[in-house]
Amino acid sequence: MSSPRLRLEKSAFHDGIWTIDEQEARHLIKVRRCYSGSLVEGLLDGQKIQLRLICEGDTVRAEELSRLQEPLPRPEIHLLLALLKTDQFDLSLRLAAEIGVYKIHLLQCKRCVPQYGAGRVEDKMRRWRKILDEATKQAGATRAPLLSTPVPLSELDIAALPESRFAALLSENARPIKEAAFGDGVAIAIGPEGDWDPEESSLLLSRGFAPVSLGKRILRASTAVSAACSWFMLSADQ
Ligand code: SAH
Repeated sequence: MSSPRLRLEKSAFHDGIWTIDEQEARHLIKVRRCYSGSLVEGLLDGQKIQLRLICEGDTVRAEELSRLQEPLPRPEIHLLLALLKTDQFDLSLRLAAEIGVYKIHLLQCKRCVPQYGAGRVEDKMRRWRKILDEATKQAGATRAPLLSTPVPLSELDIAALPESRFAALLSENARPIKEAAFGDGVAIAIGPEGDWDPEESSLLLSRGFAPVSLGKRILRASTAVSAACSWFMLSADQ
């Protein structure tokens, strides 16, 4: 059984002692049933920190015992993800964070069911970042994937992506993903529930995305995210 994990971004550190933020403190005490002396693992952008809790009333502090740097997951996976309906989308975010995706580039595609205006996107981004952080606790990962604001495919900054680029396409020209050759970085694009619009698939191909197949079956977008990202992560030299 691994020790309970918490994120430390909102906690304060002074002289070897962490003062745990209210929300994480409540979770450790009420849900994880921790007490003074419990050993827990703190996650903080690239670092794993072993802690021993000191509980006094509602205040939870923690003595830092050791700190380890976590290497960056390889390959650096860039997931281009179309906006999906809430349940599918939340699940896709969680899966990407657990697998160790480096960055999620959100796409507002023509056939996306959700179409958020600028005002709502900010609220949504906050919620999505929270989902990613929660998933890192489940996975014991020190870093959450970076998340960029949704843009139409035509406005995506392609130059910022790795040179090995693939698009999951339900097309006869798509080659099996196991034939995809990639280096230290890889980009994979997954379309919305309504699939890519023909203009979008042509745009992907013209921008150097090789069409890949994830098998003969039509997968839900979240399953496609999991299958493709896991493939790249697990087939790289570990
Ligand atoms: N509604 C569409 C399916 C969309 S699936 C239909 O019924 O035909 C959503 C996305 O998952 C697709 O755009 C594609 O990127 C990916 N996908 C799903 N299954 C796939 C497969 N077998 N091979 C490649 N990509 C797949």
